[in-house]
Amino acid sequence: MSLTYPDPSLLKELAGEYGTPLMVYDEDAIRQTMRAYTENFRSDIFETAVLYASKAFLCTAIAGIAMEEGLHFDAVSGGEIYCLAKAGASAERIHFHGNNKTPGEIEDFFRLGHGHIIVDNEDELKLVRSIANSLKQPMDILIRLNPGVEAHTHEYIATATKDSKFGISIDKTDAIISMVNIIEACPYLTFAGFHSHIGSQILESEAFAMEIRVMFEFIGMMHDRHGIDVRDLDLGGGFAIRYTHEDNPPSTESVCRRIISLCEEEVTRRNLPLKRLMIEPGRSIVGDSGYTLYTAGCRKSTDSREYVFIDGGMADNIRPALYEAEYTCRNITRNDEAPDRTYTLAGKCCESGDILIKEARLPETFPGDLLLVHATGAYGYSMASNYNRLGRPPVVFINGSSHRLVLRRETYEDMMNLDVE
Ligand SMILES: *Cc1c(COP(=O)(O)O)cnc(C)c1O
Repeated sequence: MSLTYPDPSLLKELAGEYGTPLMVYDEDAIRQTMRAYTENFRSDIFETAVLYASKAFLCTAIAGIAMEEGLHFDAVSGGEIYCLAKAGASAERIHFHGNNKTPGEIEDFFRLGHGHIIVDNEDELKLVRSIANSLKQPMDILIRLNPGVEAHTHEYIATATKDSKFGISIDKTDAIISMVNIIEACPYLTFAGFHSHIGSQILESEAFAMEIRVMFEFIGMMHDRHGIDVRDLDLGGGFAIRYTHEDNPPSTESVCRRIISLCEEEVTRRNLPLKRLMIEPGRSIVGDSGYTLYTAGCRKSTDSREYVFIDGGMADNIRPALYEAEYTCRNITRNDEAPDRTYTLAGKCCESGDILIKEARLPETFPGDLLLVHATGAYGYSMASNYNRLGRPPVVFINGSSHRLVLRRETYEDMMNLDVE
C-alpha cells in the first residue's frame, strides 16, 4: 500500500500562492480519522471520550475541527489552554496535563471553569488544593500513574525501575491512597480517577493490552481492598502512523475496538463502577494528514552521497535531528518519473545534523523542483523553532479542491516583535 497525498496540481498551485516551505493539511482526512476514533471508541457499558492531544499540532482551526467532530482536549501548558479557549473550548472539554504546572497556569485554568487536572505528583496536588481553596472553585482530579509499561514503536517492556519523570509509580499504593484522601477531603476537588500514558508511535497493540491489564489490576485492588471507586480511566495516547512504506500500524478501528473490548471484559469481570474511558491520540489524528512542501535548491555530491538541499529543515521539522525520525518524500514536479535515485535531503540550517531524510528515493531532481514530505503533521509545526531566524512556515488546510490559509508565514518583523531594545 502506498502513502496517499493530495492532488499534485493543487500542491503546485499552493506552492505558487504561498511559497515554500509550506505545510498542507488534508482537512477531510483529519475529519475521517477523528470519526474513526469517535465511531469505534464506544461502549454500551461505559461512556467514552476521545481527547485530542493538542501538543501534536495546535491552532484555532484544528481545535475548531476537533470540537465539531466531538473530541475533547488534552493540554499540557497555559499556552495550549489559552489557544483552546480562544478557539471556544470550555474548561469541561479540557484535561490539563504536565509534570510541573506552574501556580499561574493552574490558577488560570481554575478561572476558565470546571475541567480536569491530571496531577502528576503529591507536591502538585497540594498546590492545586491550595489554589482551589483560595479561589473556592471546583475541579475534577485524575492522578497520573506510571504503570511500569513502556512502549515505543516495536518495543514494549514492563520496566522494573519505574523512574520516569511522569506520574506516581503504581507500586506506591500508600502514596496513591493518601493522594486520593487529600482530594476527597477538599470541598472543591473531586477524585475522578487515574491516567496513564505508555509511549508514542506504538505499533504493537499488545502494549496497550499490557497497560490495560496492569491498570485494571490496580483499579480492582483499589475497589476491593480500599473502597476507592474510579469513575474515569484515561489510557493516554501513542497510536502509531505510517511514516515510511515499512511502517504497518494497526487500523484505528482495530486498536479502538481491542481497547474497548479488553476494558469491557475487565469492568464486567471485576464488577467495577467505571463511568468513562478515555484515550488521548495526538500524532495519529494529524500526523499522516499533514505534509510539508519544500523547494529543492543547490545539490552537491561527495564520494558517498548526493545531497539535495531544501529551503527549510530542522527549524520546521526537528524530529529527524532529535530522534532519528524517518520520513518519505516525493518529487511533485516530476511526479510521473520513477524514483530511481537515492539522495540525502538536507536542510539549510547551520548544523551537520540538519538532515531530513538520509536516503530519499527520488527521480533525478533539479533546483526548483517541488518536494513533498509525507506525514509531517504531528510534532513538526508544534516543535518548530526560529533557529537561524527562519520564520515558521504558513499552514494551509485543503478541503477537496478548495483551500484556506489557517496560519500565515512568520515574517522577519514577527521575529523582531519581541526585541524591546
Ligand atoms: C504526548 C502525549 C499524548 C499524545 O501522544 P501521541 O503519541 O501523539 O498520541 C497523550 N497523552 C499524554 C499524557 C502525552 O504526554
